[in-house]
Amino acid sequence: MLRTIVAIMAAKIIINVSRRFGNQGTVLAGRVALWLDPGILKKLAARVRGQIIIITGTNGKTTTSNMIAQILHANGNSVVHNQAGANMLNGITTAFIAASNLTASRHWDYALLETDEANVAPLLNEVNARQLLITNFFRDQLDRFGELDRTIRLISEGVKGRNIRLWLNADDPLMTGLPVETGLSCSYYGFAATPYDTLHNQDSREGRYCMLCGEEIEYQSFHFAQLGAFYCPNCGNTNPVPDYLGSDLQLDHNITMKINNLEVTSPYQGFYNAYNILAAVAVSKGMGIADAVIREAIARFQPQAGRMERFTVGSKEATLILVKNPTGFNQSLQALLNDHRSKNLFLALNDNAADGRDVSWIWDADLESLASAGAGISLLVCSGLRSGDMAVRVKYAGVDQELIQIESDLDPAIQKALSGPGKVNYILSTYTALFQCRKILLRLQAEYAPSVVRERA
Ligand SMILES: [Zn+2]
Repeated sequence: MLRTIVAIMAAKIIINVSRRFGNQGTVLAGRVALWLDPGILKKLAARVRGQIIIITGTNGKTTTSNMIAQILHANGNSVVHNQAGANMLNGITTAFIAASNLTASRHWDYALLETDEANVAPLLNEVNARQLLITNFFRDQLDRFGELDRTIRLISEGVKGRNIRLWLNADDPLMTGLPVETGLSCSYYGFAATPYDTLHNQDSREGRYCMLCGEEIEYQSFHFAQLGAFYCPNCGNTNPVPDYLGSDLQLDHNITMKINNLEVTSPYQGFYNAYNILAAVAVSKGMGIADAVIREAIARFQPQAGRMERFTVGSKEATLILVKNPTGFNQSLQALLNDHRSKNLFLALNDNAADGRDVSWIWDADLESLASAGAGISLLVCSGLRSGDMAVRVKYAGVDQELIQIESDLDPAIQKALSGPGKVNYILSTYTALFQCRKILLRLQAEYAPSVVRERA
């Protein structure tokens, strides 16, 4: 007990000191606490009275878990929830300690733990989670995780033999092996046909082969990437029937849809965010939360930093979007192409460790879509440490060379983009440039804010 108190005290001091210096201290505090008391995460997680829900997958973890957290808060529940970027054991331990009192006697209703696929098994050894939500499987930074098959196997082996329910994307053929391999009970969320579906897809190299028999699968239609209505001609493997069905989807400046009988509207944009909403609502309905509470929380939920976050600079709107892999990039491009106004586009590409050192993934993204007649690109500024690579990529994609400018420094580059002739601005950035871009946009937003003119009496 004394050991636990010492560990919590030390971690809380680290959290407070690092907050004073402007960062969250999320990793170090947990590491020190686990070193002082290796059983601390287990002890704190045991204080969760309701359920522990783990959220994993390639894209959408943060948005989905933030939405579920918002719904639970709106429902009057206490929730432990780790922050984006602090999703390994150290960061999760920090989240519990930050929410705990010194004697570790505080209880919570729920814990929502967002984590990378490779961390699911170690996390399950520490916390008694009964629900695991998987958002999707897309090709991410290969230098970090290796092949997708390995990623899926890590999850499968991590959950096998445990008393845990899987929440799976019914539209993702890559998930169809999981119920068979694990024997666990599963709940499914997925979309009915939408007006945005396509018959062909150049978008992704994943999901071409059946997870059950290895035969090439066929599609009736694609929502995006490998998500869609699929069928294996050899073994009959096909979409499971969704327990939570998204229908009547409309994507424009907002997202509106029906989930079973519940109509929701969200200030988000893009099909991938519609999936995040669908997954969050499915899990929340599964926990028995009332429709009215869910609808209200989804309507109020505002995009997070870099996830379609909107700024106003002068009279123009600027939307900041994080891109980190080809599928996410394609979805962001699709979302901005759904906006039919003329646009200034800014693309920042960095190659720091957190971005992935190898920038060849930009060749897998469908930048060709920017060259289409209806794209409405008025100016395209390439920036970041690898601005030249990005410029070469968009040039090969067929974007009019006259529209492309290179400026590696983020600040002048963003200003250049914002002063372009387009009606709106889209600022896309890889991870390590995102927070600088955000800072620059916040500063410009303040500088160009209409000054208050006082009338003289
Ligand atoms: Zn098959």
